[in-house]
Amino acid sequence: MADQIIIKTGREKSLRRRHPWVFSGAIHKVLGEPELGASVEVVNDKGQFLGTAAYSPHSQIRARVWSFDQNTPIDREFFKQRITTAQALRDVLIAPHTNAYRVVAGESDGLPGVTIDRYADYLVCQLMSAGAMYHQDTIFSLLEELYPSCNVYERSDIDVRQKEGLKLATGPRVGVAPSEMVVIEENGLKIAVDIINGHKTGYYLDQRDARAAIRPYVHNKKVLNCFSYTGGFGLYAAAAGAAEVVNVDVSQPALDISQHNLALNGLQDAPVQHVKADVFEQLRKYAESGEKFDVIVLDPPKFVDSKASLNRACRGYKDINRLAAHILAPGGVLFTFSCSGLLSNELFQKVVADACLDANRDLQIIDRTQQTADHPVHIHYPEGWYLKGLILRAMD
Ligand code: SAH
Repeated sequence: MADQIIIKTGREKSLRRRHPWVFSGAIHKVLGEPELGASVEVVNDKGQFLGTAAYSPHSQIRARVWSFDQNTPIDREFFKQRITTAQALRDVLIAPHTNAYRVVAGESDGLPGVTIDRYADYLVCQLMSAGAMYHQDTIFSLLEELYPSCNVYERSDIDVRQKEGLKLATGPRVGVAPSEMVVIEENGLKIAVDIINGHKTGYYLDQRDARAAIRPYVHNKKVLNCFSYTGGFGLYAAAAGAAEVVNVDVSQPALDISQHNLALNGLQDAPVQHVKADVFEQLRKYAESGEKFDVIVLDPPKFVDSKASLNRACRGYKDINRLAAHILAPGGVLFTFSCSGLLSNELFQKVVADACLDANRDLQIIDRTQQTADHPVHIHYPEGWYLKGLILRAMD
């Protein structure tokens, strides 16, 4: 008999709603001795089947459901079907605009803990759960079969691995590691991606649509791109004829890549500055000096990583948005984002409203953005919606 997790009486509701996570507190008993990441049958107190899940003995999320169908074995065919289903969406919606996109977005594509990003002929995998790790050989060999022209590189070097009791793992898994940065094409622009040392798997693919959305607003304008990373929004602005662009980030390697990206697109002489600074301090400097910008982008890293940090994070969001509203030129446009899943859309909008109030500016929301379609949200996993953005215009 398969190893089993028996759920406590009355605690099966979220599984019945096909949410894939089994928290340790919902478990009555584990029968057998499942290995780290191996498949277990999840059943209710009457022995009725709820799902087949991967066992994560060290994590609060003690199991992640692969399938709610009792007749679906978790084998090579299973992974192949999930990956090809995911790829089919990208083929239609994303591939026409870029050769870099998220191929598999974890829970939202029915593969908890598995992230696969494509950068031209490199696939970068992040395996974040014990279950994903348990099946890694199958996953790598399937990628070799399904993407014969691609190399596969693993970037499983993020903190959650430790919560799962897993060591960090990086390196080439199929083919070779790139000897230099991988150059992708996004909406007609060339962008160099450092898949070995860059943030996440190398680049913020989820902001592709938001970057494109800046284009109509920037011609002949002065643009401030805060938290610029490798200069994405700034590059789009420069290419669309901005009069001046200032990229601000704390990371010198990211700013260096930004400079390189301009050159890749023949924009080495464009009026773009790079400022290595803390955005909070830099915005305060502009507020004191009275310098104004026509378009401001605020794309900070995740400020909220637990419910306990929500209040502090809101103060952070409010600070940068207040300062940005303050230094926005009359009629200027603010692009402001939050990638904190724990901060709701409503609360984010309220924080921005409070910031405008404190800055004594009236802004209007003219558009909203969210993560791109290659980061879909599974209807039964609403946590998958983490990135939201507001495009606002100063009404003066
Ligand atoms: N807009 C970018 C992604 C931004 S990611 C794009 O489209 O690709 C967030 C960035 O914020 C990272 O590059 C990180 O180095 C930077 N960062 C984090 N905290 C910062 C701070 N206090 N001041 C300046 N930059 C910061």
